Amino acid sequence: MTREARAETSRSPQVLRGMRDFLPQQMLLRQEIVDRFKAVFERFGFEPIDTPLLEYYEVLAGKYGEEGEKLMYHFQDHGGREVGLRYDLTVPLARFVAAHRHELTFPFKRYHIGPVFRAERPQRGRYRQFWQCDVDTVGTRSMLADAEVLLVWIEALASVNIPNVVVQVNHRKLLQALASHAGVPAEQALTVYRAIDKLEKIGPEGVREELLRHGVSEPAAQGVLGLVQLRGEPGPVLAEVRQRLAGDPQAMEAVAELEELFRYLGLLGADPRRYALNLALARGLDYYTGPVFEAVVEEPAIGSLGGAGRYDGLIGMFLGEDIPATGGSLGLERVVEVVQELQLLHAPSTVTQALVTVFDDESWGVALGLVQELRAGGVAAEVYLGERRDLRRQVQYADRKGVPLVLFCGPDELAAGVVTIRELASGEQHRVARADLVSEVRRLLAARDPRSAST
Ligand code: AMP
Repeated sequence: MTREARAETSRSPQVLRGMRDFLPQQMLLRQEIVDRFKAVFERFGFEPIDTPLLEYYEVLAGKYGEEGEKLMYHFQDHGGREVGLRYDLTVPLARFVAAHRHELTFPFKRYHIGPVFRAERPQRGRYRQFWQCDVDTVGTRSMLADAEVLLVWIEALASVNIPNVVVQVNHRKLLQALASHAGVPAEQALTVYRAIDKLEKIGPEGVREELLRHGVSEPAAQGVLGLVQLRGEPGPVLAEVRQRLAGDPQAMEAVAELEELFRYLGLLGADPRRYALNLALARGLDYYTGPVFEAVVEEPAIGSLGGAGRYDGLIGMFLGEDIPATGGSLGLERVVEVVQELQLLHAPSTVTQALVTVFDDESWGVALGLVQELRAGGVAAEVYLGERRDLRRQVQYADRKGVPLVLFCGPDELAAGVVTIRELASGEQHRVARADLVSEVRRLLAARDPRSAST
């Protein structure tokens, strides 16, 4: 670094592009969402794990396709090792399973919530450090595991009040069958997926042109387009695909798996408005081998909320022996943005529920006693720490932070053996006996937010 550059970074407190600080208010909303997700994940039996942010580059290399490779943070550490910042939570999981195979009970269900890094061009809903919330099941080929991933997403998104989410479903082997049906050699199949994936963006004519540009013949392009535009109930659409691609073993395998997946979704009682078969869905990552999912919302236009799929070959890249796996990833930043934009959740602006004001040196000890009593009673309480103790300033402090209750214990209150509680939102005051303080504070808090009553 040059002297000037060093001087500049030490003067300006800015963060790197695509990376962000979070203020307490933003963190409280993020934590609320993460807590709700965890509760849903655990209700389905997924267990928490963690892995390091840094991995040997070799662990990450060659797993994400050309695009992913370019976006990976990759450097030498102090010992001259080639290392990379994790790009998602799936490849680290595959490494983790290979490393701890003998300590795990299979089928192994885990969730993992944490930051990942991609050197993308930042824009709305696209950052360089962002959190993923993953659920995966390792060690079974059963489509029930895939159905559970879809259902756990629907329930997790419902738990944060996101309406109108639809999980799109397709199958990688169906895409492969389409490519071979179009007469495209296997090594060029990716170009077909990419073209098909743009159907919504560039329309059927755009896709046709792109396919022709890649050497697909006119009738084959028409055949592919006719198939990927099929819409409707999964049952009849899959029956139609079965007919049109009859004789292609890959396509038949994919159709049978999807039929099973949709049957399980029915048995699990998943709301059919929340999922749809979309034969044009490709998904970017290279490691998928079976069903693939993407969660999308119509409003706001934020891209996908989550991506998922089966990856039966990935763990084998570390172990030399395939272990089937399926799972997916909800993007926390996008979920937060939807929740904020549509005002779907109310998170408090501060953790503090009550501020104990300080009147003078004489009552100082009483204030400390009160705050400890509240804390012991499960109330998040602060005593004012500022050095200038005029009451107006203390109330202002509570008001600016959004603390709901302010407690006063001045000479009057001391003499009468009471405490005054002021509800800042309404200005209403209550004089309560010292002995009833904690229960009264809890009653007032519960009346404001019924959820806090159980704490
Ligand atoms: P992927 O691992 O690419 O399948 O992405 C899974 C989910 O992570 C996406 O559906 C997004 O919600 C989220 N995501 C992916 N890339 C970014 C990014 N650069 N910034 C924020 N969220 C992202």
